This record gives sequence, C-alpha cells and structure tokens, in this order.
Amino acid sequence: MKKHISLSVKCPYCMKSLMDKELRLHGHPSIKINIKTEKERGTISLCSVYECFDHTSDINLEKGIIVEFSCPHCNKELLTKEECTFCGAPMVSLLLDTGGRVNICSRKGCPNHYVAFEDLSTELSRFYQIYGD
Ligand SMILES: [Zn+2]
Ligand SMILES: [Zn+2]
Repeated sequence: MKKHISLSVKCPYCMKSLMDKELRLHGHPSIKINIKTEKERGTISLCSVYECFDHTSDINLEKGIIVEFSCPHCNKELLTKEECTFCGAPMVSLLLDTGGRVNICSRKGCPNHYVAFEDLSTELSRFYQIYGD
C-alpha cells in the first residue's frame, strides 16, 4: 500500500498555518482556506494527504468555475500569475512547512496539482522521516 504523507502548509504572506485540526479528512488535519465565487463566499477544506485532493466546502461550487482563494488570517489572495497547464486557470500556491510549495489549480474539478520541491528526493525523504510510521 502506498504511504500517505500529510502535508503541512502555511500562508506564503503571513506564514500562519492553514491546518485545521478540528476538521479531519482521511484522519489528517485538513487545509482550511477562504474561498469566493461570483455569487458566494465560504471556506474550503482540502485533504492534506499528498496526491489526494478530496475536499469539502460550505458553499456550492459548480464544476468548471474558477474559485478565488484567500488566506483566512491575512486575507491575501493566494492565486498566482502562473497558469494551469491543463486548463489555463490561475494556480494557487501554498508554502510547505518543510520547504517547497504545493500548487493547486483554482478551477473546480480540474485535477492539476503538484508539489514543487527544490529537490524532490530529499524533501520526500524528510517527509518520510517526519510522518512515516
Ligand atoms: Zn496569510
Ligand atoms: Zn486547471
């Protein structure tokens, strides 16, 4: 079975943790971010397990819409100028506690997300040391 690595992320602007220990997905703290669509504001909780992008939201997100993400602490927008290579929507970038970034597509239903490490193998081995069981 594949090992599940739970990522711990923070806001790239105020450096505060985005982890929500109250709401757990797949047994791990979720990543809580404020979101906004053309019609509504709410929050989204993303699964923190590497390569799992299950999520729940308190507002209805229609498939295909672009969602604005902002930090629940400092309210800064987390969208970047980088475009999704699949669908052209802006990418959302979060800082990893262990270094590197996790980038996710802001379009609902687009599966594009990736972890950007400076050196993937060392960072992943650090994850295994920290989170491995
Ligand atoms: Zn912030
Ligand atoms: Zn996309």
